Amino acid sequence: FSSVSTPIRATLFPGDGIGPEIADSVKQVFSAAEVPIEWEEHYVGDTIDPRTQSFLTWESLESVRRNGVGLKGPMATPIGKGHRSLNLTLRKELNLYANVRPCYSLPGYKTRYDNVDLITIRENTEGEYSGLEHQVVRGVVESLKIITRQASLRVAEYAFHYAKTHGRERVSAIHKANIMQKTDGLFLKCCREVAEKYPEITYEEVVIDNCCMMLVKNPALFDVLVMPNLYGDIISDLCAGLVGGLGLTPSCNIGEGGIALAEAVHGSAPDIAGKNLANPTALLLSAVTMLRHLELNDKAEQIQNAILNTVAEGKYRTADLGGSSSTSDFTKAICDHL
Ligand code: ATP
Ligand code: MG
Repeated sequence: FSSVSTPIRATLFPGDGIGPEIADSVKQVFSAAEVPIEWEEHYVGDTIDPRTQSFLTWESLESVRRNGVGLKGPMATPIGKGHRSLNLTLRKELNLYANVRPCYSLPGYKTRYDNVDLITIRENTEGEYSGLEHQVVRGVVESLKIITRQASLRVAEYAFHYAKTHGRERVSAIHKANIMQKTDGLFLKCCREVAEKYPEITYEEVVIDNCCMMLVKNPALFDVLVMPNLYGDIISDLCAGLVGGLGLTPSCNIGEGGIALAEAVHGSAPDIAGKNLANPTALLLSAVTMLRHLELNDKAEQIQNAILNTVAEGKYRTADLGGSSSTSDFTKAICDHL
């Protein structure tokens, strides 16, 4: 009986720029939907915490570890030396190894395609983004692309598990193993090994350049895509562009030990911060991925429908979607739909 059961605690980082405004929107929608979640709010500090070597406090990281789930607004890393970027700190400290981005057409919001429904799963810890670059001699630099069996198996396992538990039928591994024979070759080998454990899921391998062409010609060809870091960075933005851009696209980071830290794909949007103009949809849909992770599927469905119906109805839309509603009016419309 939900009204007497103990609420689930989740960490909330409102973040910077438009972060606090869109985080407010999430809090309002969650309370209108009576989601049994109690937010533990944490702010980015204004001094460097020596324990994290960044402006993120140790307590805030402990909060995510303890709760296992969290929602993060956009964070702008302060400029200066002697500290780690906020996103890097989160990724390293919480071991966020996979970035999951659902990407689907919003009914009633017209883009080039109206049948997009795919999930990109990006390996988030190695590949070209291992941070290993150096100068060999003057005029010659080198960057190391690291692919490990451990990280590849881990993200492949996550992708197949995700497909199986979310009623998906196919996993496509995206690669360039014809050229990057050792690195992407190992990534594919790991995907194949995991695929064998999931005979009910169709497995295919698609070369990255061909994948790009197929995505822009007919995105409905894809279901779940899993790929190394750099390809994932590029392909997930390409997919966001297919369905209407930054204000709409959610994501969720998966960490070691089952941590889920959901976040919008967009940045802190300083140009519109504090003006009640931001579109909260991306953060709201990210919060929905968090609910699904917690298996609060009824609440997730209810909130997602209220958002989609509000957008489809077209009466209340923020400026980025061509409307003239404020963040708070749009949020109120979603609450009314609930
Ligand atoms: P950051 O350095 O934090 O990434 P940025 O200047 O790159 O910030 P983004 O947040 O990446 O800005 O946004 C790029 C553009 O998209 C900006 O013009 C911004 O106003 C717009 N934008 C981003 N998110 C939203 C949103 N949720 N609602 C409306 N517009 C948005
Ligand atoms: Mg940006």
